[in-house]
Amino acid sequence: MTHDSPRDTPLLGCIADDFTGATDLANMLVREGMRTLQTIGIPAAPVRGADAVVVALKSRTLAASDAVAQSLAALQWLREQGCRQFFFKYCSTFDSTDAGNIGPVAEALQKALGADLAIACPAFPENGRTVYRGHLFVHDTLLNESGMQNHPLTPMRDANLVRVLQRQSSGKVGLIGSVDVGRGPVAVRARMAALRKEGVTLAIADAIADKDLYTLGEACAGMPLVTGGSGLALGLPGNFRNAGMLIEDGAATRALDGLDLLPPRGVVLAGSASQATQGQVAHWLARRPALRIDPLALARGEDAVQQAIDFAQAHADQAVLIYATAVPDQVQAAQAQLGVERAGHLVEQAMSSVAQRLYAHGVARLVVAGGETSGAVVQALDVRALRIGPQIDPGVPATLAVDADGGPLCALALKSGNFGTVDFFEKALRALGAAH
Ligand code: ADP
Repeated sequence: MTHDSPRDTPLLGCIADDFTGATDLANMLVREGMRTLQTIGIPAAPVRGADAVVVALKSRTLAASDAVAQSLAALQWLREQGCRQFFFKYCSTFDSTDAGNIGPVAEALQKALGADLAIACPAFPENGRTVYRGHLFVHDTLLNESGMQNHPLTPMRDANLVRVLQRQSSGKVGLIGSVDVGRGPVAVRARMAALRKEGVTLAIADAIADKDLYTLGEACAGMPLVTGGSGLALGLPGNFRNAGMLIEDGAATRALDGLDLLPPRGVVLAGSASQATQGQVAHWLARRPALRIDPLALARGEDAVQQAIDFAQAHADQAVLIYATAVPDQVQAAQAQLGVERAGHLVEQAMSSVAQRLYAHGVARLVVAGGETSGAVVQALDVRALRIGPQIDPGVPATLAVDADGGPLCALALKSGNFGTVDFFEKALRALGAAH
């Protein structure tokens, strides 16, 4: 079967305000049976053979005007691909400032699409994010007591999302409360009609259980624009299926068609110092070959990249781990000596060079730990589009990077720091079909 069947043009066009958030959303859509392609930025070429396309931007912390311009350009491209409904994806903790970017981007997309009302719901109860009476909870605490009040770029000091979104928006913000959501899609639609009469243009929606996300999704059938976290997208594929436009045929497994054309060698690159990654590295070290890259050695000009290549080549019959992961004391020592930015940059540079050079040696199945590290590796490999395959662990799918004609380039598992079980690296290599 080719990737042009059963349908050629995508139904759902998504704009995500960061890279790992885009992957998280794509993972949800695949779970619900949509063939999903994630692009890194706005592609030059048209896409075919996907039911949903997620354009990953890096617009969360840009100036609002830049975030709006990029999002509108992404919308324009998605419209040209034939998408019928559009989803603006942001973080489940509503990461933004009073200047934006959720309100300004949502309103600009609304205007471009002629959408009079759009809902806004970051909730994902399965992951401990609920919205009740407009207030966002992270597990048992209000957003502004969850640690997010101290975020360096987007501190969230108010849990009342109606107020938060109102401060970023020029139109009127309202609420679809849990009583209406609990009654089902018809009650939600009635509430939306009432809000429209009051002149509301953006409506925060409550969701305290995952079934509420499906209710909201169903209520948004046919609406041009929906905005929210990745959880809200769970309810959208069903609308297309009910309308006979989405034909289920193994979206996730078919995404990896062509994987067997790639050479079997795999490698793990860890540039994350997060706790989960530390456990995964320790687990690997007890069992398999690994080499550490030290930012201080990089700063001294040592050719740690060449050492990593030599190490991988000396173990060509098995997967190796190349890691910068260190305990907090070591990270702080490197940062004190080099500065936070330089230490991070040196490690990201080294990891991307290792990826690039090993790829040139025929290592085409890569597991990468770290959000920023993943971004750097994807950029170094010049990856423009990922077909999203089955989930390895929550939030992390196996993916296949493809060229403009859909031909396979490399298999990637991109894990942000705190995701994955302790044996994630081995599981991910297996999911990518790598010899190890
Ligand atoms: P995470 O998803 O865990 O936050 P990221 O890759 O996004 O991981 O960020 C980790 C940052 O820390 C990267 O910039 C990386 O280069 C840097 N880093 C990794 N190891 C070290 C280390 N030993 N010392 C200093 N910085 C490091």
